[in-house]
Amino acid sequence: MQATTAGDFPILRKDDPSAPDYDTLRAEVDLHRELDGLLAMRGGRLNIAYEAVRHHVEDGRGDRRAIRFLPASGPPRDFTYSDLDRLSDRFAAILRAHGIAHGSTVFSLLGRGPALYAAILGTWKAGCVFSPLFSAFGPEPVRARMTIGDARVLVTTETFYRRKVMTWRDEMPGLSLVLLAGGGDDLPAGTLDLEAALEDAGGEGAEIAATGPEDPALLHFTSGTTGKPKGAVHVHAAVVVHRMTARAVLNLHGADTYWCTADPGWVTGTSYGIVAPLVSGAPMIVDEAEFDAERWYTILEREGVTVWYTAPTAIRMLMKLGEDVARGHDLSRLRFLASVGEPLNPEAVVWSQRVFGKPFHDNWWQTETGGIMIANYAGMDVKPGSMGKPVPGIEAAVVSREGERVTPVTTPDTSGELALKAGWPSMFRRYLNEPERTAKCFADGWYLTGDLAMRDGDGYFWFVGRADDVIKSSGHLIGPFEVESILMEHPAVAEAGVIGLPDPVAGEVVKAFVSLKPGHEPSEETKRDILGHARKRLGRAVAPRDIAFRDTLPRTRSGKIMRRLLKARELGLPEGDTSTLEGGA
Ligand code: AMP
Repeated sequence: MQATTAGDFPILRKDDPSAPDYDTLRAEVDLHRELDGLLAMRGGRLNIAYEAVRHHVEDGRGDRRAIRFLPASGPPRDFTYSDLDRLSDRFAAILRAHGIAHGSTVFSLLGRGPALYAAILGTWKAGCVFSPLFSAFGPEPVRARMTIGDARVLVTTETFYRRKVMTWRDEMPGLSLVLLAGGGDDLPAGTLDLEAALEDAGGEGAEIAATGPEDPALLHFTSGTTGKPKGAVHVHAAVVVHRMTARAVLNLHGADTYWCTADPGWVTGTSYGIVAPLVSGAPMIVDEAEFDAERWYTILEREGVTVWYTAPTAIRMLMKLGEDVARGHDLSRLRFLASVGEPLNPEAVVWSQRVFGKPFHDNWWQTETGGIMIANYAGMDVKPGSMGKPVPGIEAAVVSREGERVTPVTTPDTSGELALKAGWPSMFRRYLNEPERTAKCFADGWYLTGDLAMRDGDGYFWFVGRADDVIKSSGHLIGPFEVESILMEHPAVAEAGVIGLPDPVAGEVVKAFVSLKPGHEPSEETKRDILGHARKRLGRAVAPRDIAFRDTLPRTRSGKIMRRLLKARELGLPEGDTSTLEGGA
């Protein structure tokens, strides 16, 4: 995707005179000093659950509302910090009672609800590592990730367990505890009712595990162009970045009502849907239902949301419905709007300025960075289409890389790879069991992000595209190799190549190109059958939207499928020059 220059859209002047000015923020913040200060106060220990809940309780804020859960139907359920503290103590007690060792990985396959919050905070309290999975994944992505992460515990629902786990559970003898939220009369063998277990657990007020800043806290899966999913390991020290960015970027304070719409299976849903608001002491809304424009506007209005963090696909869906739907609601409480996860069209920024009287503030980060890295701030002019400037304490650059040498590109408006000076507290420490893949991301003291970007003369960063072939569809990162591998399982498929095609709402949609084995002919029926297989194994959110048959697929001399060529042909671009394609270069 080509970056849009600011020249096409008016610059939106800083809209909140009370917000700290960007240069002041940058001069003030030193993340390592913040971490050292926190460690000094905590006697050298650091545990995110302490910062998120117990600390508020000890400081006399236990009876303040932390979360209002909005079920898909029925009345809201409010939880104070004390409620969350008690619930997560009980979850930790369950883990201890079942002999789950410190450092073990607890997976979740859950929607947004109380069980998720009890599980993640309780996991940390027991000194274990939490790995949230996207609940729209089919059985195969779930199995692959739980195998790589050596799952000891799974927290899910009966429906998800039956559909996505039960058939292969025997392959994972190490999975010793499966807890099912939401009850059921006849739970499958080898599972426990989470609510009943919480009821019986006790353990309230127990000491939180004595973790340190470098102890693993989270395992977030992400995808590359090839190979298996990668488990990015994050540590407790990351909480310093969550707290700082909540303050500096989202402009979040205790008096706000905050709503982050991200799914808990992706990194935004954890860092900014759980950790950042809890450590900031800002009450949040958690909507358990799926996207629905009228419902969203009603929530914004009724709950008096002041800070709203959402994503471009949702914003484009709201735009599609038109301005009148928004105008039918009193959204005057909204103070700050932010967006992440995919390129935010400049039109969307201008639209929100017109409709809400405030622009969406785009920001950029990724699974590996653990927190927001580049952002538009309240105290800064917004150039629609730009991701903004590096957050305080982070050095970002556009670079060119030759082997181990990384050279910053100093000429403005020149495309190169986006890189960050390595070593900030929320940086992933490694890909689990993958030292070579980890090492490939670092050179010359820089972390190389895999994204292409430009910096303009004013220091604003502009997203250009991915340097690899991963696909972003509705904000979900999809590894083409994972999809191709599942297509190849189908008895008719000889070879498969998977790409992302531009889509006006989802950003990209997954398209597969397939050649068939001898004895199989392209037909609507074969296509339906292959698509059905992919949806069943991968889940609808990851499976191809469409399949096209080809006699053969283009390959490099070393035998790799040339996805970029497939994309260029599909989009009618010159085959010799695919460098301007998203996923090209
Ligand atoms: P994930 O690791 O799943 O969070 O995906 C991270 C990737 O999403 C980044 O490397 C970018 O390719 C893309 N991305 C995230 N935020 C933005 C943004 N504001 N603009 C453009 N692309 C983004």
